[in-house]
Amino acid sequence: MNVFRPGNGKVQLSEAQIAARIRELGEQIKHDHAEQEPHLVCVLNGAFIFMADLVRAIDMPVTMDFLAVSSYGNAQQSSGEVELLKDLRMPIAGRQVIIVEDIVDTGITLNYLLRLLEARQPTSLKVAALLSKPSRRKVEVPIHYLGFEIEDAFVYGYGLDRGQFDRNLPFITSQA
Ligand code: 5GP
Repeated sequence: MNVFRPGNGKVQLSEAQIAARIRELGEQIKHDHAEQEPHLVCVLNGAFIFMADLVRAIDMPVTMDFLAVSSYGNAQQSSGEVELLKDLRMPIAGRQVIIVEDIVDTGITLNYLLRLLEARQPTSLKVAALLSKPSRRKVEVPIHYLGFEIEDAFVYGYGLDRGQFDRNLPFITSQA
């Protein structure tokens, strides 16, 4: 059984396209953090593959930590409420923090995380997001390192789930 089959929707990002963009983001992050090592915060679950590839594209010492927020569950629409399921292990005061997100849709999750982490007084707080759907935005949020801007479609693969499955697809795809 071959499960690595793309959907027939408009958003299709190949393994090679994703890898090339992440190499560029890694170089940009290194360039912007010459004075102090960045501390990357992965937002579980969806960003775990992006995080793994991004940290390996940053050719300098970095530290990292993980937090988890409630996502859509098995639904394809956000409930509008965010719940912190797992907090960071390490303090971030005085650190140059980069939140690593899979996708910014309405912006509600990221807005919540920015407020939560800003209160802990990092030296700087930036955002790396693999994908952004600007047409869906309800809250304006900054994205300092963006992989790809995409149109409004439900995407999956490369860490993003479709009913908890398909996170292991090496590419990003959508259904028509
Ligand atoms: P937001 O709070 O910006 O509306 O949504 C952010 C979260 O919703 C993402 O971190 C992701 O978990 C989930 N999400 C938003 N759009 C999609 C999508 O197209 N596909 C998948 N699999 N998850 C999405």
